[in-house]
Amino acid sequence: MDNFGASKDDPLVEPGEHVIGAFVGDPAGPTLIVVGSVHGNEPAGLIAIKWVAEQMPGIEKHLKGRLFLIAGNSRALGDRVRFIDQDLNRAWTADEFSARPRSDPSSEHLELTELVQIFDSILIKSSDEVFILDLHSTSASGVPFATVGDTLRNRDFAMRFPVTVLLGIEEQLDGTMLEHFNELGAVTLGFEGGSHGSPDTVNNHESMIWAALAHAGLLDPVHIPDADRHFARLGEIATGPRIVEVRYRHAISATDGFEMDPGYNNFDEVTKGERVGVDKNGAVHAPETGLMLMPLYQRLGTDGFFIGRKVAPFWLWLSAILRKIGVQRMVHWLPGVTQTPGDPERLIVNTRVARLFPLQIFHLLGYRRRRWDGDKLIVRRRRHDTVSPFRRN
Ligand SMILES: [Zn+2]
Repeated sequence: MDNFGASKDDPLVEPGEHVIGAFVGDPAGPTLIVVGSVHGNEPAGLIAIKWVAEQMPGIEKHLKGRLFLIAGNSRALGDRVRFIDQDLNRAWTADEFSARPRSDPSSEHLELTELVQIFDSILIKSSDEVFILDLHSTSASGVPFATVGDTLRNRDFAMRFPVTVLLGIEEQLDGTMLEHFNELGAVTLGFEGGSHGSPDTVNNHESMIWAALAHAGLLDPVHIPDADRHFARLGEIATGPRIVEVRYRHAISATDGFEMDPGYNNFDEVTKGERVGVDKNGAVHAPETGLMLMPLYQRLGTDGFFIGRKVAPFWLWLSAILRKIGVQRMVHWLPGVTQTPGDPERLIVNTRVARLFPLQIFHLLGYRRRRWDGDKLIVRRRRHDTVSPFRRN
């Protein structure tokens, strides 16, 4: 495969072109949707998708389900910019969906409208589990990793891949595409395949797509070209910790003048108080000891860096047991915790009364932080933690 990069003059797709391939073996089987380049400065995802699409014709007959290969931000890709008017991976919000048709819509509003229409037409015909793989790359170099919205179904899928799994990033961000699909009940997996410009990143993405076809039950590994090489590759890149939980996000805006200090890579250890960057107010320090995640070395973006911490597999095991027993349905009996009328998955925690139940307890039970409201913490659980709404049998 020698057509990486596909120079910057190659737009890869036309504006508004999203469906790179649709391959159906058994229409009643599971569905895998692979999306690449939701950020236009991350062409590697789409290039890998095209490589897979080229190889599918001889393989399609072996598919035990449906595969859709989708290009993300088609217009931003043309200029190789992260976005044109707004970040497409923060635009999957109720506000954007309900926005009235405008005479002069933002570029990303057009993208969103096109993508939603395509996804709806795919989802409405699904009669078995739906899996969504979203391919990204990072401005810093470092170990590739998967990002997982914390439902038991997402975790089960993610743990089939031998890569580092990052939990809780979605809690820090609003309006991501995968969070939209989590709410609809799909099994989702994000993958940061490496740095933007590295040919390795395309190879990592390609291996991830083939592995996803196998792990979603769509393709027997004997029908995957070079299956051994792809599985071996994922094992080799997995040099980071097995499971990491995101604990802190350094949010920035364009006026902050934030600049990351050079030299940080994903999963580098940082110590509380360590200087990691600078902004208009002076030095920026790490607020806690942990692992550096996604340090920003590009101009556009609202996430300066994240800090995570290793999670022992024991806690995942414990939380799976608790959730399967249904402990999360009894939490609102605790003092200081009340259910929201009309939305049983949403809890209001009075932290003055509920001092004893830190956020970690709610994490264990599948709740994620929504926001602080004075001394009240609002948490919400995903409806489709353990049961798929797409399965018809
Ligand atoms: Zn991205």
